[in-house]
Amino acid sequence: MDRPSLNRARPGEPSLRIIVIGSGYVGLVSGACLAEIGHRVTCVDTDAARIAGLRAGRSPIFELGLEAMIARNVAAGRLSFDGWPAELAEADAALIAVGTPPRADDGQADLSAVLDAARMLAPQLGAQAVVVIKSTVPPGTGDTVEQLLASCRPDLDPVVISNPEFLREGSAIADFLAPDRIVVGCDTASGRAVMAELYQPLTAKGAPLLFMDRRTAELTKYAANAFLATKISFINEMADLCEALGADVTQVARGMGMDRRIGTGFLEAGPGYGGSCFPKDTSALLATARAHSARLRVVEGASVSNALRQAGLIGRVQSALGGDAAGKTVAVLGLTFKPGTDDMRDAPSVRLIDALQAAGAAVRVYDPKGMDQARGRLIGVDFTEDPYACAGGAHAIVLMTHWAEFQDLDLDRLAGVVRQPVFIDLRNALDADAVVRAGFTLHGVGRPPRGPIDAASDRPKPVAWPHPPGRSSDPASDALSCAAG
Ligand code: NAD
Repeated sequence: MDRPSLNRARPGEPSLRIIVIGSGYVGLVSGACLAEIGHRVTCVDTDAARIAGLRAGRSPIFELGLEAMIARNVAAGRLSFDGWPAELAEADAALIAVGTPPRADDGQADLSAVLDAARMLAPQLGAQAVVVIKSTVPPGTGDTVEQLLASCRPDLDPVVISNPEFLREGSAIADFLAPDRIVVGCDTASGRAVMAELYQPLTAKGAPLLFMDRRTAELTKYAANAFLATKISFINEMADLCEALGADVTQVARGMGMDRRIGTGFLEAGPGYGGSCFPKDTSALLATARAHSARLRVVEGASVSNALRQAGLIGRVQSALGGDAAGKTVAVLGLTFKPGTDDMRDAPSVRLIDALQAAGAAVRVYDPKGMDQARGRLIGVDFTEDPYACAGGAHAIVLMTHWAEFQDLDLDRLAGVVRQPVFIDLRNALDADAVVRAGFTLHGVGRPPRGPIDAASDRPKPVAWPHPPGRSSDPASDALSCAAG
């Protein structure tokens, strides 16, 4: 169905009337950024407290620059917040950006919020509006939403578009305003025209706009996230092999990543992927594949590998502690699943802390931005006000999240407050030389542990290591031994 012209404020200026349903991470960032590029946006949410906070100028999430961007666009009259259902007469597009968490039974995406939003939207839809699904949804969801809207509003011929979002928490605004690409799944010319107009200020600056059919767009989002998750699991398994061989995964990753076919991104070995997207999206993709009798063995492997990695974090800490965490105090620096956000959803820190507590350790924690969110998820830990208070009296420090501020840690001061100088850098984030010079034994990921520098000899002290290179099962070591042959 082709449509008449849209509601422009002034000819030549991008100004669509947009309603964003769901004012969470994606909805809020998308809404603020779309207002920033000139559209008139109302963000709505069923969470009344969230809307009240936003109206009072408080962002419910931490994302650098977001609160200021919201304030600027509210003041300019381009951005407002409302409860839901709200009046959306004459909206050119309704963007659905509600959550799609994994279902407990089969791992598939729970679409109830998307379908609820569509049901609530239906009575309000004007003849010109298009419905854009920004939430990450399994292929075919656009068809379901279209059927639902058509059944609620037989008087309309609704246009439902897939426009998956690729922003990353921690750099969400920059990602939205300068995306690598904008993916739009849409089968009608009128829908494509609205989307071209919506993103015109970004495409004018060079952002590629990729039109495709709706199911393909829905799948593209999952394929991208599954590939990134696979890259992470791949390098983490290489890290395990490096530990067994006495090699250094950071150098392996550098040597691999400089090959442009591979690229450097997502080749940082660490505690495994977490957050609100990769675990749930890999799980939903696998469930979709199963439902269509397809096997995605690579993604299955990445997902299993990640689960095993996180289950194995406790073993890393125990081995650095000499085998047992019982009765020990462990300081955890960084709780959020990545730096730059306060998001604690599926953060690997929670799994490690639970396991430490189960093993009888006392846990002290500090995070620059995630403490409020963490309080709701962690029970029985000591929340501390800075890294030094956190490390006070600890038998080991674990760096979980590589916040930039940890680069500036005063390592001598840290070494002065711990009970035992053991540093477990699960992100290989700190300068290893500086850590050992401060007197710590350093356990990184995928690289040999390093003893503190012995002041007398100015050489590292030896470290007991669970996987020393050249152990007797190592064929190379057998071949070289005097007894062989
Ligand atoms: P979120 O939980 O931060 O926000 C969802 C919001 O929707 C909440 O504020 C909730 O109250 C609201 N909501 C729920 N049901 C509603 C309804 N019927 N009507 C109106 N509001 C409703 O979720 P998020 O992280 O923004 O993710 C949203 C979607 O975007 C998910 O599908 C996610 O996979 C996808 N996504 C997320 C990211 C990310 O980094 N967080 C990145 C890309 C894509």
